[in-house]
Amino acid sequence: MMTINISEILSAPSVSRTYTVCPGFERLKLRRQSYPVSHKEDFLLQVEKREDGSLTVAGETEIRILMPCDRCLDEVEMTFPVHIDRKIPLASSEDTDEAPDKDELSFLDGCMLDVDKLVCDEVVVALPSKVLCREDCKGLCSTCGANLNHETCSCGHETSDLRMAAIQDIFREFNQGK
Ligand SMILES: [Zn+2]
Ligand SMILES: [Zn+2]
Repeated sequence: MMTINISEILSAPSVSRTYTVCPGFERLKLRRQSYPVSHKEDFLLQVEKREDGSLTVAGETEIRILMPCDRCLDEVEMTFPVHIDRKIPLASSEDTDEAPDKDELSFLDGCMLDVDKLVCDEVVVALPSKVLCREDCKGLCSTCGANLNHETCSCGHETSDLRMAAIQDIFREFNQGK
């Protein structure tokens, strides 16, 4: 787990500091699943306390995660650019009436800045609705589970093809009958 103690920054009226950080996790928890991280790297995280009492946290990195293809379950390496650019009004701020919501503050616990949470938050918003190893992934055979990208099985996929052909025949007859 990667956290930085920023008590020095929080107690200063106005200061900016740059830290070299790296996500501390080996797996990333997303959508109640956990996926292995295949690549992460050191990056610079700039933490700035402004005179108006706000705290900004900014940094850029990239992370790669192995996720299963939605159709064939093969592992797919997904690359996520991470752009951290967060600003929170601190509790001691006099200019802000509104308290920051809990989610905004969840990466700051007391004076500990949670780098893992910052990175994870960015991946969560960038998650695609579908993970595919390739656009035309053929998926798994619903009968025997064979990966149809790599092999053909003898489960008789023509059954569904025949049914489809039959439906098309009915449509054709219907249209001709008009
Ligand atoms: Zn696939
Ligand atoms: Zn099969």
